[in-house]
Amino acid sequence: MSTFTTLFDTYNWDATLSSIFNKTTSDVEQALVKDKRNLEDFKALISPEAKPFLEQMAQKSKALTKKRFGNTIQMYAPMYLSNECQNICTYCGFSLTNKIARRTLTNTEILKEVSFLKAKGYDHILLVTGEANQTVGVDYIKNAIQLIRSQFSNITIEIQPLDQNEYELLIESGLYAVLVYQETYHREEYKKHHPKGKKSNFNYRLETPDRLGKAGIHKIGLGALFGLEDWRADSFFTALHLKYLQKTYWKTKYSISFPRLRPHSGGLEPKVEMTDADLVQLICAFRLFDEDVELSMSTRESEVFRDNIVNLGATSISAESKTNPGGYTVDPQSLEQFEISDERSTEEIVQMLKNQGLEVVWKDWDKTYF
Ligand code: SF4
Repeated sequence: MSTFTTLFDTYNWDATLSSIFNKTTSDVEQALVKDKRNLEDFKALISPEAKPFLEQMAQKSKALTKKRFGNTIQMYAPMYLSNECQNICTYCGFSLTNKIARRTLTNTEILKEVSFLKAKGYDHILLVTGEANQTVGVDYIKNAIQLIRSQFSNITIEIQPLDQNEYELLIESGLYAVLVYQETYHREEYKKHHPKGKKSNFNYRLETPDRLGKAGIHKIGLGALFGLEDWRADSFFTALHLKYLQKTYWKTKYSISFPRLRPHSGGLEPKVEMTDADLVQLICAFRLFDEDVELSMSTRESEVFRDNIVNLGATSISAESKTNPGGYTVDPQSLEQFEISDERSTEEIVQMLKNQGLEVVWKDWDKTYF
């Protein structure tokens, strides 16, 4: 059966990158005045030529976001269940060869972490694990979802890619959404950063959203890890992926995240720098490209950056995140996956949002799914 790989393989990385860099001022101006923008317009909006138009892009992005989502921001919290991992990823603190204490939460520990998050008001939770089939395989995730499903209206996972039937099983158990970032769409660079483990299979990861779409998942989150390769080309392929999925699995909703490489144990320096202005440009470009897609902003970004972006296009943010298993209450000292940047409390973030005239949404604005 056909998958995104068939379409993806018709594109060439270098040709794509040079076509982005060849966009002209006139291409940007035309993209800005359109009502509906295509992939070529998206290229123009992320090109260096669009930099002088950033303010205009930001205003349009803000207006479109308000039109579709109102003055709202969705809150969610990540909860790390395990740092066991069989993969080597050059940019991650949980990578197999990193000598860290490994920990997987028990049911009691999961419920303790959940109590903390519920007391803060969270109703959307993102469960995160490394990729270790023996300890955190499908059975473990299924058990965790069933254990907490009565307490959350939205359970999302960011775990190892699974087969279609495994996703079907988890959806039956109460799973709402899956985040699966390609990290980079550059095949050769991908190989360098994922030399060992199941994650080294580029196509299996690339086709994960197809398996999710076929399984009937409610929402899929896409993204690339910025810093591994050129952010413009990786963003173009993310947009291409999004359009393909929307057309193929039209009942499913989509979100985009914008992780930039952060310091972590055994740290990797970004190969390609993405500045704050680049990231604002990209977020606005995505909003201009797609009015409906959810745009998510994690605590990887700084206070100042997040304070600004919540008004320009972002629709959901996390707060007070811990990126280590048991990080909220059970084992705050365990090693984190990466350092977070915005360390403010949930209450401080809520106040910041209110000060900006935004309404904080804890439950999903569209519907609950149980
Ligand atoms: S990014 Fe994920 S798969 Fe890679 S080492 Fe970290 S936890 Fe494991």
